[in-house]
Amino acid sequence: MAHPVEKTDDEWRSELSAAEYHVLREAGTERPFSSPFETDDTVGVYACRACGAELFRSETKFDAHCGWPAFYAPLAEDRVEYLEDRSMFGVRTEVRCANCGSHLGHVFEGEGFDTPTDQRYCINGISLTQVPDASKDDVVSTSSTTEG
Ligand SMILES: [Zn+2]
Repeated sequence: MAHPVEKTDDEWRSELSAAEYHVLREAGTERPFSSPFETDDTVGVYACRACGAELFRSETKFDAHCGWPAFYAPLAEDRVEYLEDRSMFGVRTEVRCANCGSHLGHVFEGEGFDTPTDQRYCINGISLTQVPDASKDDVVSTSSTTEG
């Protein structure tokens, strides 16, 4: 599957820490309750750690007490892509960054959370970069990566 951002494994390894590479590029899972983003209430955007694409907003983050940052919706449907994941018992839906194909986490439905979608995007905090609204103008350049 082609993504706007495509890099070789060597390139990813040089840009990401070992832990980030494991989760983002090898579909690993960070330790539960290891991400400060799970309970952080900063208002802003959560962008892909690998490519910088904006993926989620803080307004859709909720406390699911599951050990990982939980969102009930992506920033926009075209920001993420979904893959069937049969790597463990049962079938789960894997969530990846649509811009670079990096693994983010999984999405679960119908768990009864009091959210507008009844979906839980269970996302590894290490896959995300927090971009507070206040600092957006001077820190983030808009995602205009062109490669090819
Ligand atoms: Zn990405």
